[in-house]
Amino acid sequence: MTAPLIGVLALQGDVREHLIALAAADATARPVRRPEELAGLDGLVIPGGESTTMSKLATLFGVMEPLRERVRAGLPVYGTCAGLIMLADKILDPRSGQETVGGIDMIVRRNAFGRQNESFEAAVDVAGIEGPVDGVFIRAPWVESVGADVEIVAEYGGHIVAVRQGNALATSFHPELTGDHRVHGLFVAMVRAAG
Ligand code: GLN
Repeated sequence: MTAPLIGVLALQGDVREHLIALAAADATARPVRRPEELAGLDGLVIPGGESTTMSKLATLFGVMEPLRERVRAGLPVYGTCAGLIMLADKILDPRSGQETVGGIDMIVRRNAFGRQNESFEAAVDVAGIEGPVDGVFIRAPWVESVGADVEIVAEYGGHIVAVRQGNALATSFHPELTGDHRVHGLFVAMVRAAG
């Protein structure tokens, strides 16, 4: 395959950082806002940001349902932080009206690691990556529990912080903010394998 085409859901959040990280991991990356822009994508990233806002905007832009369909049909997706929340089949403590795309059989707890001023960085071992990754946790969720088909990719402090189910990958932390593109590389490899 030539460079796979990977969209970044650009309704809200740290879109630019993902576009840069994907390009560094040898993908062609472009922002996606409208349903038509999902056509032709080999993969999609849902960025970090604020999952409640992202959910509302996705519904408003008419992209929520098309996204669900593409993910259900096997489109490779990677969500970071708010993006992880968007990929959860269930949120433990949703704000009213908050919906998700789903795709990963997991229950997540929003803001589980505390408030904005309790944000932190920590070394995290990620399955499939040699040597620790610098995990940036910003009002990060954790995964409370996963279904039988979900692979736990990373844990930190006794909590699940990265998971994979089929073509869907999610991390509580933000590799796009570190300049280390290995997790994006892992996702690009998943996209290539799916394509
Ligand atoms: N706490 C945020 C939410 O609920 C996620 C924070 C982040 O993406 N850095 O969406």
